[in-house]
Amino acid sequence: MPDVAVPIPAQLLPADGRFGSGPSKVRRAQVDVLAALGTSVLGTSHRQPPVRDLVARVRRGIAELLGAPEGHEVVLGNGGSTSFWDAATFSLVRERAHHAVHGEFSAKFASATTRAPFLSPSHVTRAEPGDRALVTPDGEVDVYAWAHNETSTGVVSPVQRPTAEGTSRDQLTLVDATSIAGAAAVDLTQADVYYFAPQKVFGSDGGLWFAVCSPAALARIEEIAASDRWIPDSLDLSQAVANSRLEQTLNTPAIATLALLAEQLDWFADNGGLAWAAGRSRESSDHVYAWAQARPWASPFVAVPEHRSPVVATIDLDPAIDHTAVIRALRDNGVLDVFPYRKLGRNQLRLGLFPAVEPDDVRALTACVDYVVERLA
Ligand SMILES: *Cc1c(COP(=O)(O)O)cnc(C)c1O
Repeated sequence: MPDVAVPIPAQLLPADGRFGSGPSKVRRAQVDVLAALGTSVLGTSHRQPPVRDLVARVRRGIAELLGAPEGHEVVLGNGGSTSFWDAATFSLVRERAHHAVHGEFSAKFASATTRAPFLSPSHVTRAEPGDRALVTPDGEVDVYAWAHNETSTGVVSPVQRPTAEGTSRDQLTLVDATSIAGAAAVDLTQADVYYFAPQKVFGSDGGLWFAVCSPAALARIEEIAASDRWIPDSLDLSQAVANSRLEQTLNTPAIATLALLAEQLDWFADNGGLAWAAGRSRESSDHVYAWAQARPWASPFVAVPEHRSPVVATIDLDPAIDHTAVIRALRDNGVLDVFPYRKLGRNQLRLGLFPAVEPDDVRALTACVDYVVERLA
């Protein structure tokens, strides 16, 4: 390998070098299924049974995997989680939202509701990146919003309604589970909307959003749709609900994304469901945090152990070790995408440890980092 500054011996390398925090590793079996659907499903009408059956399979698979309670519905639409923030701003917030913000993704949704001219300025509970903010009981809001996993920093939060018994159910909880839905236990009676995109935990492609909606959330969507608020069609969740009930989307979905997701949902279900998937991520992340703590030049960025994400591990490096050099050396050897979140600006590695990633490959990854750091020193 002529241009490789630090060639890593082949026996140390992971079998698969994809450790991105999204998009993430797509398994070979998923791609094979996609190829097999090449003439029967891909390139066919999304209004006809082959694609609608795929949508039905995905909606059912999500409800089963996450244990959606009776009456909760899986709604989907185009545009990924970022579009869902805009749709939720239009279709779920009646007057004012309260956000917990401790990183880039939670900040973006807070910014969307704050800037909406038809809403009152949002309340925000903030924490520094690496710390955790939780929403606090707030009598002036009709929506609480936070991220189950803040992907920019690797902080995990509980999915738990902020107010105890006696809470008026007129306050909805909206949980951004984009990077953790399907890789951690969840009690969906604690969330009115638990939403995600399929390119992280599910190793599919981007472009769609999915939201498990409670009866209270569905009622709020209808209430706002019937009000005089102007809502663009593509961001109107009442249209998404109506289409989802017909196993469709308002406009053309990415059929390949649906097919890759359906295959991954089957793979999870066949192997033991959510507990199995979560166990794989937990095994990988336990290893990574223990590895970092055993190195004088590495440490978990998230100080409080219970706040450390089981799916996205952020590891700070000693200032003497340039993370960009480590990341470049790894990339030269096919070990990919372990860079920190751009705007965080830290000397850090960020590892995506989703269920599709083999725990053995994660052990190989840390051995590769050891090897590179030793030789760069
Ligand atoms: C990746 C991510 C998003 C954005 O998802 P897109 O589908 O790219 O819009 C939102 N929230 C969290 C927590 C994420 O990790």
